[in-house]
Amino acid sequence: MSRSTQESSWHRADVVMIGGGLVGASLAIALSGSGLSMLMIEGVTPDASQQPSFDDRTTALGNGSRKIFETLGVWSMISPHAAPIRRIHVSDAGRFGFARLDCREHDLEAFGYVVTNRQLGAALQARLSELPDLDLRRPAVCTQIEEVDDGLIVHTDTGAPVLAKLVIGADGAKSLVRASAGLPAEVEDYGQTALIAHVQTSRPADGTAYERFTSRGPFAVLPLVGGHYGVVWTLDPAEAERVLALDEQDFLAALQQQFGWRIGRLLRAGKRQTYPLKLSRAPQIVGPRRVLIGNAAQALHPVAGQGFNLGLRDAATLAEVLSAQSQQSVGDAAVLSQALLAYAEARERDRTGITRFTDGLVKVFSREDPLVPALRDLALLLFDLSPQAKQAMSRLSWGFAKEMPRLARGDRLRTGVSGQP
Ligand SMILES: Cc1cc2nc3c(=O)[nH]c(=O)nc-3n(C[C@H](O)[C@H](O)[C@H](O)COP(=O)(O)OP(=O)(O)OC[C@H]3O[C@@H](n4cnc5c(N)ncnc54)[C@H](O)[C@@H]3O)c2cc1C
Repeated sequence: MSRSTQESSWHRADVVMIGGGLVGASLAIALSGSGLSMLMIEGVTPDASQQPSFDDRTTALGNGSRKIFETLGVWSMISPHAAPIRRIHVSDAGRFGFARLDCREHDLEAFGYVVTNRQLGAALQARLSELPDLDLRRPAVCTQIEEVDDGLIVHTDTGAPVLAKLVIGADGAKSLVRASAGLPAEVEDYGQTALIAHVQTSRPADGTAYERFTSRGPFAVLPLVGGHYGVVWTLDPAEAERVLALDEQDFLAALQQQFGWRIGRLLRAGKRQTYPLKLSRAPQIVGPRRVLIGNAAQALHPVAGQGFNLGLRDAATLAEVLSAQSQQSVGDAAVLSQALLAYAEARERDRTGITRFTDGLVKVFSREDPLVPALRDLALLLFDLSPQAKQAMSRLSWGFAKEMPRLARGDRLRTGVSGQP
């Protein structure tokens, strides 16, 4: 703490973001124009084959996320690659329970939009490169964060140290920012692995998304632009390894046997990738001059397609809170601390609600005690018959916060948002 902060070789920025994945990139776009100078430190270039964020996964964007991207002026770049989900079919594998939702019954254009992370990433990267108030250090890995009297010094494996007034952890589930602030994370291993692949079928995707629950975990089949489907198949880890190693024909046969013929014959499969599934949640998301967003704050099971949508609302809320600050007030530890606490409070209900909903879904649908499957089937059938329950479900994509972020309401941030709404 006694180190001088006057060293001339240091870079300076009001805000340093560690991590420029899907959520970090979205935050930088939202915060641009606030008057705060920003530096983003990202370990991997966007075109790297092992990209941790902009990879071959598909993301189902809810209507709330669509609205945020519209307000930020990036939806027009995403929408050509986004397949609308107009119908959802939920079922309990091998049993009679099922439920159907149709967006027309809820006066919606769609329940959400499926886009590959690569295409979503490309749209965000295109906008990032235009931001006049963002410096980008990439590839560069943040190695240490040190506290000094009037800020934090961020060390990276390349380039000079940076003196920051605020460090934002958008650095994923294994967040170094979270660890550096001494903020614990509660981690629960689901003992499941998600295997993802794009598949081509004899019956092209028609806007229906399928969510099928099996005792090993959920199985999602999502429509993609071009008539293909994105598959997220949850398996136990050893089985996932075996399925990953199958040749294409054997993989298609195993998938067809698991899913059935609802989408026609499976003809071809693209590259497969696996993701071990854990729930990670930081009870506290603010520390001294540090704040967490996205997977650094909470990483969820993909069952309900909520992780990124929730992280984007983190980013939208933090941008709203910070854009109300001046360069001077962000430098004042007491004022900054108040602003960060306001962010944490605004996010608490949404974070807790979506995390519990997602976790509960995984657990209820993997239980095989004698009575549970029958109760599940009954619940699905009741859900299918209840317009109110369906209405509540269709509102999920707006989150559980008492107040939606301004960007999700279509309002620009007070100090001005870059880009056209
Ligand atoms: C199979 C699967 C399917 C999913 N489907 C959906 C879906 O349909 N809808 C949905 O909303 N969500 C979905 N999710 C969740 C979603 O992918 C994540 O919530 C989202 O990627 C989180 O983004 P992030 O930017 O917070 O973190 P990450 O994507 O983990 O990005 C973190 C970034 O930080 C960088 N980084 C980390 N440490 C450092 C460091 N020390 N220095 C510099 N850089 C660093 C990394 O290189 C990376 O680019 C899914 C997840 C999985 C696994």
